[in-house]
Amino acid sequence: MERTLAIVKPDAVSRGLTGEILKRIETSGLAVCALKKLQLTRAQAERFYDVHKERPFYKSLCDYMTSGPVVIAVLGGDKAITRWRELMGATDPAKAAPGTIRKDLGVDVEKNAVHGSDAPETAARENSFFFSGTEILA
Ligand code: UDP
Ligand code: MG
Repeated sequence: MERTLAIVKPDAVSRGLTGEILKRIETSGLAVCALKKLQLTRAQAERFYDVHKERPFYKSLCDYMTSGPVVIAVLGGDKAITRWRELMGATDPAKAAPGTIRKDLGVDVEKNAVHGSDAPETAARENSFFFSGTEILA
C-alpha cells in the first residue's frame, strides 16, 4: 500500500467542491487515510513549494495557496501516487484529459483545483509536512 498527499486547493474549497473531489477519490478505490482543513501560512506555502522557488509562477502560486482554506488528505492504496495523478489530470486544465478533476473542475494552470505528490520521496516529505505518523490511519 502506497501513500500520497492530496490538497483541495483554495479555488475548489471556496466553490464548494471538496465533497465532489473526495467522492471521486473514494469512488476510484483510494482510501482517505488522513484529512484536515487549514489555512496555510505564507511560510508554510513557501516551504511546501520550495522546489519551485526559482520558477516565475512561485510568488503567485504562494499568494494563491494562502488565499483561503485548503483541505489536505493522505490517500492510500496500491500505486496511489500514479492513480491520484491520473484522477487529477495534467497541470493545465486546458490540456487535461476528459473526465479528470482538473479538466472538469479546474479554472486555469494555477487554480487547478488539486495537488498531488509526484514520486515516493516527495509523497513521504509532503505527508509528513502536514501529518504526524499517528494521524495517518489505514
Ligand atoms: N503552476 C502555475 N503555473 C505553471 C505551472 C504550475 O501556476 O506554469 C502551479 C499550479 O498550481 C501547479 C503548481 O504550480 O499545480 C505546481 O506545479 P507543478 O509543475 O508541480 O504541477 P503539478 O505537480 O501540480 O501538476
Ligand atoms: Mg508537482
